[in-house]
Formats: sequence, structure tokens, C-alpha cells
Amino acid sequence: MTFALLTSVITGYGQGIKHNIKIEQALAAIDTAFVKNDTARFNQLMPLEEIQNYYAELVQKNISRKAGAHQVLRISKESAFILLTGLPISGNSGDETNSALHYSGIYLLKKNGTNWQIADRIAFDRLNQIISQHIGLEVKPGEGMAVNDTLTINVKDRNGFAVRLNHRAGLSIVSLNGQKVPYSFDGGLLWVAAPLKQQQQLLLRYSLQVESDDKNVNSGYFGATYGHVRNQYCWHPFFSYSSPNDRAEFVVHCSLPVDYPLSTSLPQTDRTSGKLRFIAARSENPTFALSLYYDKGWQVSRQQKDNTNLVIYATKDFEPARDTLYRYFAETSDILSDRFGPARSTYLGIVQDRSGGGNGWKNRSNNTIISAAKGSYLIVNTPRPRAIFGHEVAHGWTTPSGPAANFLSEGWATYCESYLLAKRYTDTIIKPFFASQRSNYLTGGYEGKTNLNNDYNNSGVSYGKGAWIFYMLEKQLGRERLGAAMRVFIRSNQQDVNNFIRVVSREAGEDMAPMIRPWLENKTIPLLSIRQQDQRLIVRQEGDLFVFPLSISLKLKNGSYANKVIMINSREQSIDVSKIDLESYQADPYAESLFQLKEK
Ligand SMILES: [Zn+2]
Repeated sequence: MTFALLTSVITGYGQGIKHNIKIEQALAAIDTAFVKNDTARFNQLMPLEEIQNYYAELVQKNISRKAGAHQVLRISKESAFILLTGLPISGNSGDETNSALHYSGIYLLKKNGTNWQIADRIAFDRLNQIISQHIGLEVKPGEGMAVNDTLTINVKDRNGFAVRLNHRAGLSIVSLNGQKVPYSFDGGLLWVAAPLKQQQQLLLRYSLQVESDDKNVNSGYFGATYGHVRNQYCWHPFFSYSSPNDRAEFVVHCSLPVDYPLSTSLPQTDRTSGKLRFIAARSENPTFALSLYYDKGWQVSRQQKDNTNLVIYATKDFEPARDTLYRYFAETSDILSDRFGPARSTYLGIVQDRSGGGNGWKNRSNNTIISAAKGSYLIVNTPRPRAIFGHEVAHGWTTPSGPAANFLSEGWATYCESYLLAKRYTDTIIKPFFASQRSNYLTGGYEGKTNLNNDYNNSGVSYGKGAWIFYMLEKQLGRERLGAAMRVFIRSNQQDVNNFIRVVSREAGEDMAPMIRPWLENKTIPLLSIRQQDQRLIVRQEGDLFVFPLSISLKLKNGSYANKVIMINSREQSIDVSKIDLESYQADPYAESLFQLKEK
């Protein structure tokens, strides 16, 4: 682990900070409590529930901890901003860094009598921006990498500039606008004493040894034959996993031994010269972080469909076979572009990760789909309908950021599955598909736990619930108009949820915010009760309030049926049934809304 704290009192930064013995004591006490297994004591010093929960989990899992650098960034009579860092010791440095960032950060202290106490945590990405990253990279398979990263940043936060970075990075240069700059690097957090200014150049040079523990390969593993660092390994600096403020342009120049093909997760070109391979990559869309994969055994193949290159980074025996992948990719692209216009992306890579063996599609990183040693089926109708590869292709149509970003990426791609499945197996597949998405949501433990707006870490809630929102919009607007709205949204360079709502509203001819927002804000789905009272059928929202159309099928005593649609938009609504001879009723007979019925 690398640690560099130049000075505990930064001169020229947060001017006139004197050594404050009381604050120093308060921080030292927190450091001590962080390391010890005394939850009551820690909670006494750290009143923030989120941090308390994090600490309790580490204690419960028996994960030991190191206290890191702390320092006062700014101080006034009654309050102070401080940097507090620490590190859990759990195995892989990438996982440790991400875990540490639940704790390492900038905090607000308030004076209470003569003592200083933690009052709040300040998101270090709240005002600053990362505009671009130009990375010079030398990859040494089986060992690690040397990184030369020039970030263009906007600093609007008086607390300086802070980013996450793998805590093992051995920094040799930290300079700002060509000058040495005071900084602190500990607990996976790099803090730089940056002044308020736009368009500053932050140069970082560091080496990073990557683990080669073949029992712990998820975030990062560098073997002699193959290896990778996922974005979550934090091998280059970034804020977090969908902060609207670090959608950066990336340019990468990478060199490595000629016999190792490598994917940067971005559109890239290769050339070789003597014993070296040179890769030049550039992001198509702003992004927060990159993944790297290399494998000596790969045969890289390229094919083009319309404007999009499909590049397969895999060994010769990879399954599914290359022509199958290409055919399905071409078919999916045609179906999606017919309805939604051209993809935003011109490059799709399929990258084989042999480190964990097995088969399956693992995840997506920028322009690449990561596969296990072997891929998996592409589309299936039973027992649970999935267009799993089409889902990945569909990601090429949106590049969202900010709140609800995963609704617009995972919810969107899951919704596209319903369309691709319908094209393959006819529309009869749509109901079972959304029934299984509903059941994924309910059995996934998301209800009451997390909402779509804040699903920054992609917990899983955005897939089923997100797809259902698109489906309900489709039912309300019709397939054609939702398709038209998505064409506009996909073309636009403002890939956020506010613009999505604006575009859908324009197509719908009414403000759709009152309908869409509660679905993104509530941590639940509607809980309804329905009862017949006197001459009315009363529908009541028992939980959080939502807005959506609900159809109710009424069976009359003469054997005929009538269908009523009510716009659910308040706590309680009713249908007049005084003029009909009602025998029974059924809510949502066509399974077109997402809700739960309260047991009677
Ligand atoms: Zn996805």
C-alpha cells in the first residue's frame, strides 16, 4: 500500500489553517475507533447512519481495518471541512478501494461547545468535473502497469479536488498545471489542493502492481497468459459509478509485448512494431472508467455491420461460433435500428475472460461485452424468456448519466429484450417475459430498499422495474409513439432522465413527469386494495402514491364483460357500478401494469 501525505497543514490552501489541537484530537479518536471492534464507541464519534452501517458490516464480517491520513481542509469559527480516510483489508486492492470509499471522504465538522463533531459527509464529486483523461499506458502482462494520466478538470469546490484511485498505485508525479501541488493519497482517495478554476491539467504518474491470485479474479488479475483490470479495480482515477460529473472523454495510448492482444473497452486500433504492440483508443461517448483485458491466446477478428464494427477478442475455440455471433448481431441491429434509429455506438467488442473459466455473458464495459471462457445462449423463450445477447447489443443505443442512469441503460436494454423476443417468438412471449421481470423484482429483495434515481451502483432494481416503466409507457403511448420518442432521445446528446421525460412528454402531448417521477423516486411498486362498497368499486393505493392507468374487467351477472380504465393518481378512486349488475371484477386482466394487490 502506498501512502503519501506531504503536509498535515497545507500552506496556501484554505489559508491560515493553524494546527487545531481539538480537531486533531477528534480525528485521532475517530481513527482509533475505526480500527477497533467497538461499535458503540465508533457510533458515538460517527453519527452518520450510512457510515455506521458500513462499519458494523466490516466488524461483523471480521474484516480488519487501517486508519489512513486525515487533515483539515478548511476551517471557520464554528465549522471545518476535513479529509478522513481508512482502508479495509480484504484481499483484492480494487475491492478494498471501493469498500474504503464508503468511509474515506470529505466531512463537515461542527463545533459543539469546545469539541468538534462530525455533522455531515460531503460528496467530493458534488461540484468538480472530470472533462477528459489522456492516458499513456504501459502494460506488463503478469506484473502490472505504468500509467501516465493527464486529466482535464473543473474545480468548483473550495475543498479541493478528490477522486478514487486504487490504493496500491505508487505515485511518482502529481502536478497541477505544470506545477507541483500538495496532495494526500490514502484509503483509496487521492486529494489534491486544487484552486477554484476551470480547465486545469492534473498529471498523475504511477505504477500499479496487479494481483495474480487466481482465487480472487473478479476486479483485477494479471496472469502470464491472460489478465484484466475491470473498471471497478480503479486502475485510473474517477469519482464513482455514474456520477454526472465524471463523464469524461478518454484517449488511451497503450503499449505491451507484441504477442498480447488487449482490449481497452473502447473503439481502438492496433499496430505492431518489432517486439511491441501499440493500441490507440478513443471513447465514443463520455464515460467514467475503462476496463482492460489481455490474452496471449486470442485471435482477434473484425466484421462490419452498417456503421458498427463487431470485434471478437477470443480464442479460436470460443463459443458461440463467430459466424453465429455475427449473424445474430446483424439481425439484432436491424431490428433495433428499424424502430429506434441508428445506434449511438459504432463499435462493439466481445471480450473473452478466461480467468474464471465457466460460461456465460458476464457484464458490459463501455463498447465491450465481457464473456466467461465460453459465451452462452443468445436468446431463449423458456423457462424464462431472455434475449441476453440482444440486451447487450441494445446498450449501444443509450449512453445515460446522472440520476436514474441505470433505468435508461439497464431498464432500457431489458425492455428491448421484450421487443427482440417478440420478433423471434411472436408477441405471445411478451406477457411471460414481463411476468418474469415482475417476479425478478419481487424476489430480488428490492421492494422498499432502493429507488431507480439513486441506483448508482446498479444493484439490480433497474432491470425489472425499469423495463416495466418502458412497457407501461408503451401501453399508454402505443408502440409507435414510444418508438418515435426514443428515436429523438437516442439522437440527442443530452442522455439524462430529465431530457427523457421531456421527449416522452412531447410525443405524448402531455406532461409525463407526474407519471414517471414517482416510479423513479419511490422505493416500491404500487400496493393496491380493491373493494366493493355500496354502488362503487373503490381502488386504494395502500403504500406510496403512483400515477398509472389501471384497467379493471367487470363481469356482469348476465355473463358479459365490461372493461374500465381508471387513471390511478390519488390515494383512493372509485368506479360507479350502480347501473350494472356486477358479479365479479378483476384488476389488470391483461397484465399491463406493475403493482401488488393487498391481501384481504
Ligand atoms: Zn445490461
